[in-house]
Amino acid sequence: MTDIFVVVGGDAAGMSAASKAKRDDPDLEVVVFEKGEWVSYGACGLPYYVKGEIQSLEALVSVTPEEFREERDIDLRTGHEVVAIDPDERTVTAESESGSVVQSYDHLLLATGAEAVVPPIDGIDREGVYTLGSMSDGKELREYVARAREGESLQQPDRGPACRYLEDCTGPVGIVGGGYIGLEMAEALAANGFEVHLFQRGDRVLTGFSEATSEAVADHLREQDVVVYLESEVVALEGGEADEDEEKDSAVETVVAADERVDVEMVLVGTGVRPRTDLAEAAGIDLGPTGAVATDAYRETNVPDVYAAGDCAEATHTVTGDPVYVPLALTANRHGRAIGQTVAGQLTEGGAVAGTAAVKAFEVEAARTGILDHDDAREAGFEPVTETIDAKSRAGYYPKGGTVTVTLTADRDSGRVLGASLVSEYGEGAVHRSHAIVGALEAEATVFELENYDLAYAPPFNTTWDPVLVAAKVLA
Ligand code: FAD
Repeated sequence: MTDIFVVVGGDAAGMSAASKAKRDDPDLEVVVFEKGEWVSYGACGLPYYVKGEIQSLEALVSVTPEEFREERDIDLRTGHEVVAIDPDERTVTAESESGSVVQSYDHLLLATGAEAVVPPIDGIDREGVYTLGSMSDGKELREYVARAREGESLQQPDRGPACRYLEDCTGPVGIVGGGYIGLEMAEALAANGFEVHLFQRGDRVLTGFSEATSEAVADHLREQDVVVYLESEVVALEGGEADEDEEKDSAVETVVAADERVDVEMVLVGTGVRPRTDLAEAAGIDLGPTGAVATDAYRETNVPDVYAAGDCAEATHTVTGDPVYVPLALTANRHGRAIGQTVAGQLTEGGAVAGTAAVKAFEVEAARTGILDHDDAREAGFEPVTETIDAKSRAGYYPKGGTVTVTLTADRDSGRVLGASLVSEYGEGAVHRSHAIVGALEAEATVFELENYDLAYAPPFNTTWDPVLVAAKVLA
């Protein structure tokens, strides 16, 4: 009899698994339940859609539902939310507008993703407060930007300092959170003429990166006229009183932080994501220490033949071997694909993750990988030592170029490379340079070995000793 592979969640992890399983075993019956209408979409592109660089949400879709159904022979059911799993009976129950269905499975993948964290700030439910976690969030934000640019929603028209891109500037907006979504949205909103005020609870933006990177990025944001408030926890979002018959609170008018009150006409909350685990927990599937679904090397959960991948699940850290929660796109795609291959009959490990991440904000780019935090490194049994260097991004005589700042962390005793953070002007190579360090982490290389990596050199790309080699040399 044909095996049935059921997938819950139709984005990166889910559709990678479904496609790979069906390709490797065309006899397999593959059923995907997706509660929304969009599948296989690139949420990573949403800030650029809101900015206006990408013209349609459809452009973010890599494979359409019709292509999955007609060309890949996958039984894709959009508009179906899985509400229960019965591991004993090996069934899932899904609900849609047309009723409830019970579907049996031989193999099950939970690829339910993550949702934006909505912090318990007084007034967070007010109109004009947005998050950016889904395609519909992106649509709402783009519509807001379009309305504001037409002058419809302006409460406090103001020609603020960020109006460098447009002749007609729109009003001030607040961003809560200085992570990568906050920064990408600062760029997107400023490019549309908004005066941007960014509030960060901690003492620096991009907390997972090095201090040198955070400082360089914050300085650049200020150069772009973003008003950056550090150590400034937002405690309330104030507005007018709501009418009694209105369901929602009235629109946000003021961001209240520890020492600040800033009048705004909208707020974007970018305070991280949390794994969607309700369905798994209700079915008796274990969560790990990070709060995401725990899995083994094959991304199988404690319940046999039930797998979990992507933003709802844990991964294994390349350097420490410990469970880690890194909700990023490549992990979702890779682990989904590995599960698809396993289900199709070839046992495949999901692979470890180094926590490699990149961000662009205005004209600066930054990357991080591995372990940078000294407490984390000590907890993993290392004695960390860190150096930061500034080096030229291209040969000194070459017409273009800038500075690349590399922060490199290694173990004092063994010299093993533990992690790095890099920052440069956009186009000057911080992000691509981080890949050499990822290679060193994967190989468990030392700084002595890294300094001898045979990296390419030509004047338009770097100096003879690339900044990565200079950083390794300084630590060696
Ligand atoms: P998701 O993409 O969240 O998909 C899960 C799907 O499951 C959803 O479609 C949901 O509707 C569905 N679902 C949930 N519960 C059920 C249920 N019970 N029944 C049926 N369906 C269900 N990552 C990067 O690596 N680089 C970036 O630059 C980057 N930028 C980003 C920018 C933004 C604005 C956002 C929001 C994310 C970004 N990410 C980035 C993260 C990246 O998008 C995620 O890591 C990736 O989408 C995770 O894929 P996933 O399949 O695990 O989960």
